[in-house]
Amino acid sequence: MSHQVGQRAIVLGGSMAGLLAARVLAESFAEVLIVDRDELTGVTTARRGVPQGRHVHGLLARGQQILEELFPGFTSGAIAAGIPTGDLGELRWFFNGTQLKPSPTGLICVSATRPMLESHVRARVSALPNVTLIELTDIVGVTTTRDNALVTGVRIHRRAEGSVEEVLDADLVVDATGRGSRTPVWLEELGYERPQEDRVKINISYTSRTYRLPDESILNGDLSINPVASPAAPRGAFFSRIEDGKCALSLTGVLGDSAPTDPDGFLEFTKSLPVPDIYDVVRNAEPLSDAVVFRFLASVRRRYERLTRFPRGFLVLGDAACSFNPAYGQGMTVAALEAVTLRDHLARGVLEADGFHRDISRVIDVPWDMSVGGDLGYPEVEGPRPLKVRISNAYVAKVHAAATRDPEVTRAFMRVAGMVETPTALMRPSMMLRVLRNGKPSGPAVLPRLNSGPDDVQATRAA
Ligand SMILES: Cc1cc2nc3c(=O)[nH]c(=O)nc-3n(C[C@H](O)[C@H](O)[C@H](O)COP(=O)(O)OP(=O)(O)OC[C@H]3O[C@@H](n4cnc5c(N)ncnc54)[C@H](O)[C@@H]3O)c2cc1C
Repeated sequence: MSHQVGQRAIVLGGSMAGLLAARVLAESFAEVLIVDRDELTGVTTARRGVPQGRHVHGLLARGQQILEELFPGFTSGAIAAGIPTGDLGELRWFFNGTQLKPSPTGLICVSATRPMLESHVRARVSALPNVTLIELTDIVGVTTTRDNALVTGVRIHRRAEGSVEEVLDADLVVDATGRGSRTPVWLEELGYERPQEDRVKINISYTSRTYRLPDESILNGDLSINPVASPAAPRGAFFSRIEDGKCALSLTGVLGDSAPTDPDGFLEFTKSLPVPDIYDVVRNAEPLSDAVVFRFLASVRRRYERLTRFPRGFLVLGDAACSFNPAYGQGMTVAALEAVTLRDHLARGVLEADGFHRDISRVIDVPWDMSVGGDLGYPEVEGPRPLKVRISNAYVAKVHAAATRDPEVTRAFMRVAGMVETPTALMRPSMMLRVLRNGKPSGPAVLPRLNSGPDDVQATRAA
């Protein structure tokens, strides 16, 4: 243990953000308890508390690097367990119906399903001698000192028959219960203000199925095929080889558009994507699951850093603090960056909620600007579009176009999208020159057809 900051820390929620927080807390607390309502041990399939686990999850390159740092040998362990990996820049990426020039980046994409990835992280965390999982247990609330200035523990209710509410004392409580976090309500009940919320409504749907391919050679060795949704081509998809020789497909629709779940409708939506690649792969594949839908209404950022009063001994992170439009694949990587921030604070031996929330807010700023900025490129998305957003969206469109011709641009873009570098990397003079030289839109541009039924095939026009 590097610095002992306290005796016991309790993490609320044992999903990705909670597990990563527990991993770093275990360095500074004698004991770390993780409380979750679901059964966790040995679970490798989607569970009730994480319904998004049924849909394709990409771990961004920065997230993979942090997992490797926190759990040395993580990536080789995943490969040994049969999880396919590949170079992020060599996946089949499409923007506006045109493929980016593949380019090796040295950045690794670990292509596991979300439950499988979580199970690998959980196995490493629960193997730590001072970490205990308290499963099948509802979190009811927090306990505080009489003046409500300090959080002193957690009220829980185990799901076992005959259980009664219990209190677990703690020196630190970390809320990682995801989007549905009750912290705003608890704060109000304790006489504090709720945090302000920034919301940007995108109304995106994910509709997903898993498959087995009769012959994988149809993929030409590619790990995944990703026609990414954009204002000009709002229907998107993520198709990936995953563990156990299976493949997963998530179809995305924005602003209320959604792929049907019946087999014919699902396939028709696949056919309506701006490129035929995925349809060609799945039309003869063996479906292994029915299609399931997840609707994500809005990106939500809770501004805990702006509160002037906040109880001591209590922190919020992960989706509980900010949840992003999932299409940008940022949530788990931001949770990993926040865990690193937590570790830095613990190493200094001070744990002030103010400072922590301010620092994770800085972590959130760039991915928030990237995803919300991208969403504001859809004319129908409500929200202010300052000059910065308009210029940035116009430039990113040129980056996408340039990356269809220049592999160096693909490489730079992947480093930024993978959160290994900040967007300023795309503004370096040599890169801007490449982008401006190669960034004329390439045809055919795809006309958006939002809110259309599955039978509508998108029209195209020459650029
Ligand atoms: C459709 C979709 C696709 C996504 N794709 C990606 C992607 O490609 N890449 C990426 O990085 N991110 C993606 N995300 C986001 C990612 O799922 C989250 O950012 C990530 O799971 C981290 O969330 P979390 O751990 O903060 O919360 P969650 O994963 O929501 O977990 C919260 C945990 O708290 C527990 N819990 C909640 N309330 C209670 C309670 N009262 N009592 C007990 N337990 C409780 C739950 O059981 C759960 O285990 C996607 C999200 C969605 C919706």
